[in-house]
Amino acid sequence: MTTKHEAPRLDLPWDQVAPGGVVTAVGNSETYVTGTWRTMRPVRDEVQCTQCLTCWIMCPDAAITVVDGKVGPYDYVHCKGCGVCAERCPVNIRQPHSFTGQMGKVIHMVPESDFENVNE
Ligand code: SF4
Ligand code: SF4
Repeated sequence: MTTKHEAPRLDLPWDQVAPGGVVTAVGNSETYVTGTWRTMRPVRDEVQCTQCLTCWIMCPDAAITVVDGKVGPYDYVHCKGCGVCAERCPVNIRQPHSFTGQMGKVIHMVPESDFENVNE
């Protein structure tokens, strides 16, 4: 059974905060909204992506979806912005990145402050 996530309370004194590192139910990692930890967001250039799926394999949070065998949308609710996917993407782009306009890999890490909504 999936427990509905309750947003963390940031207004409580330290002795009333729920203790961390306690697993209260199996399969409960999905209920933790870890996307709010993110300071940098991975953005993929969909056109220049070769669909090798290395990023999907390497993501430690299973935050990269696959739809019909191809990389789908990021799960920004759970992506922590660790940058592993961008680091391990093996493809160097040949044109400027569709979002940043810079060269480099298919995935670029972009400051979260450049976006309005942390989950989209
Ligand atoms: S930044 Fe980290 S958590 Fe987010 S999709 Fe990439 S590998 Fe996964
Ligand atoms: S690792 Fe890079 S090229 Fe491979 S699927 Fe992911 S974004 Fe695309």
